Amino acid sequence: MSVFDHPEFDQHESVTFIDDADTGLQAIIAIHSTALGPAAGGCRRWQYADSKAALTDALRLSRGMTYKNAIAGLKFGGGKSVILATDDAPKSPQLFRAFGRAVDALNGQYVTAEDVGCSVDDMRSVNEVTRYVSGLPKSGASAGGDPSPMTAMGVFLGIQAAVRERLGKDSLQDVTVAVQGVGHVGLNLCRLLHEAGARLTVADVNRHNLQLARDELPVTEVAPNALLFSNVDVLAPCALGNVLTAQTIPNIQARVVAGAANNQLATETDGARLAAREILYAPDYVINAGGIINVAHEYFGNSSEEKVLAEVGEIPRRLEKIFAEAAETGEATNLIADRMARRIVAAGAKG
Ligand code: NAD
Repeated sequence: MSVFDHPEFDQHESVTFIDDADTGLQAIIAIHSTALGPAAGGCRRWQYADSKAALTDALRLSRGMTYKNAIAGLKFGGGKSVILATDDAPKSPQLFRAFGRAVDALNGQYVTAEDVGCSVDDMRSVNEVTRYVSGLPKSGASAGGDPSPMTAMGVFLGIQAAVRERLGKDSLQDVTVAVQGVGHVGLNLCRLLHEAGARLTVADVNRHNLQLARDELPVTEVAPNALLFSNVDVLAPCALGNVLTAQTIPNIQARVVAGAANNQLATETDGARLAAREILYAPDYVINAGGIINVAHEYFGNSSEEKVLAEVGEIPRRLEKIFAEAAETGEATNLIADRMARRIVAAGAKG
């Protein structure tokens, strides 16, 4: 199968394959759209089953970034990169510099930042060879740094909006939330939810991350394969994608699904499956835009944490609009969000 026939290709503007003999780096940079600005989206380092799985992930994530950046009102198009984690290419500053050189060769068409498996330090190595990178260490109250706390803030505000809409509650006091994955975003989200009085159920496949959550917060731990089906008000997927499927949806107990993970729906039709079960789904790329908003403020410069927070505060407003349209039309929320995003991109491409 050629890359052009790939079911997720969706007219990507370019897909770059990197194979660096010196470091063993194998990576893919997918640029879906530059209609609204340079394609921006993080770099994921993950152990994929094979290179096809890595390509699928890059393409899906990259298109999601086009939609996310459009709805968030950013002057960014959509792109994403993945690094194939293998024993032959261990994580090192050299590896990230090789990746940075590939980013630089795209002359600003793509702007990278950290995603799953990458850190602020890794982006610092990238920055040694290219300026087309964000998510670098921040100083004082300027915008920047690890984007995950802002992602968590946006998800938290989005959960509040979804709970208001579906459960009719203005407070999260005693609302039960199951958080899948207590990594960078998940743990920050748990902190905010706990402060707001929510009761937390968590799972993680990484014992260390789980222990950090348990040491800090009163959480009920369940097995990773049971978390999705917890008897809770809200399910917050904060691990990886493809968790909402024809198989899992019939067994979800929560009335709201609202979390940080990208590509939570395995397929577009899974949104309708959730709607049919009267489960309110907060489209992932709308609710999890806090991090890229942070990245944009850092990248374009001259901004502050305060300004980022103000913009992250718009996320619940955007969700409310989508929820209202879904309530009126009965259409699945993901389809409404996709349509809104495509309209913004089309208008930007014309202008
Ligand atoms: P992370 O790697 O820090 O955390 C993910 C956590 O999920 C890890 O602790 C991992 O062990 C756990 N996990 C993986 N598979 C699991 C499973 N089956 N069950 C339970 N736990 C599992 O990543 P992160 O930065 O917190 O991002 C989490 C998700 O949010 C990702 O999908 C990412 O693409 C998305 N996202 C992150 C940001 C950000 O700012 N970091 C922004 C937007 C979206």
